[in-house]
Amino acid sequence: MVQVKPAKIKRVGVIGGGQLAWMMGPAAQVLGIDLIVQTLHTSDPAVAIAHSAVIAPVADVTATTTLAAQCDVITFENEFIDCAGLQPLADQGTRFRPSLDVLSLVLDKRHQREFFEQIGLPNPRYDFLEGHESEADLMTKAKRIGFPLVMKTRRLGYDGYGTAIVQTTSQLSVIWDRFNHAPVLLEEFVPFKQELAMMVARAAGGAIAIYPTVETQQVDQICRRVIAPARVTPVVATAMAEIARTLVTQLELVGIMGIECFLTPDDRVLINEIAPRTHNSGHYSLDTCITSQFEQQLRAVSDRPLGPTDLTCPQAVMVNLLGLDEPEASHYQKLQTLRQRPQANLYWYNKGIRPGRKLGHITQCLGAGEDPEMAADAIEAIWYG
Ligand code: ADP
Repeated sequence: MVQVKPAKIKRVGVIGGGQLAWMMGPAAQVLGIDLIVQTLHTSDPAVAIAHSAVIAPVADVTATTTLAAQCDVITFENEFIDCAGLQPLADQGTRFRPSLDVLSLVLDKRHQREFFEQIGLPNPRYDFLEGHESEADLMTKAKRIGFPLVMKTRRLGYDGYGTAIVQTTSQLSVIWDRFNHAPVLLEEFVPFKQELAMMVARAAGGAIAIYPTVETQQVDQICRRVIAPARVTPVVATAMAEIARTLVTQLELVGIMGIECFLTPDDRVLINEIAPRTHNSGHYSLDTCITSQFEQQLRAVSDRPLGPTDLTCPQAVMVNLLGLDEPEASHYQKLQTLRQRPQANLYWYNKGIRPGRKLGHITQCLGAGEDPEMAADAIEAIWYG
């Protein structure tokens, strides 16, 4: 009997058209994949590199039905979707990778924490509120966790929006009022010595590709810089890899996932959160890994073999370029200066300039003896002054 090879997946739908989808562009070209994005505005970054676009909000189920009709598989660069609304599409055979079950788990920080606990991964102490509880209930739960604690909106938080540190009992109800009594997660404040992250991909057949552990540094709860690889002991790096392996195996993930963790002063790794897509902490891979996170996502969701994840230089730093409280022209002047840095690649997402908004990033390759903090400081001095 003649073996017929299954046709290669050619058309990949992407829900979301921001910079993460935009950075899939070159990889899609190399792999011979057409990207079709669902995104709110024609001016969104990924529309420029897409084969075509469905212009609609990411949670618009009717638009995703249109997208599905044009694609072999649908993946995500934005998880803020309507999982329940999309279930009938999945039931009728639309392939979502990762699955809607994974997306729906990740959408609620409470469900993430419960899942980590269920599969034996290390959480900080936590509790949650649905929103209808009394102030007394809030206080009881908070006292069990202890102060300071972190209050987080369970849904739709990103880049620190929806995260507040509560120092004392007296701040507790004021801050919950600020959250409009929305469902929240309460977490022990972890006095971490480092924040770590890792990208991990899994193919439908079960193959797993793990990227190096990296160190992330946040300013005002937004990622400012990433150092790859993280300056941690082999034991810590192995613990991170084990967490990554357990997570993607238990979730039966098909796609790529970002994992954010805390490293405690006594070298314990605690999970912060996961994202079922490419991630800011993996941008360094575009220039400094054999297979970038963007190519790996496309490989995983299109049943192409996963690629090697090794670093191609001894170390690297990635610095996020956030919008400044300065005129547009000043942003462009600084970009010119940054473009002249040796061993560095700059990505400018062509989004509207607003203070605090992630507008671009720069990755610089470093030699073995170089100090990554100094390199990042020099970049930040140019951009942030
Ligand atoms: P988001 O989903 O908005 O990115 P995160 O949960 O990642 O929110 O929190 C943003 C940042 O806030 C983290 O990177 C970390 O610096 C800080 N943070 C969050 N949770 C805790 C915690 N439990 N203890 C200490 N710092 C925290």
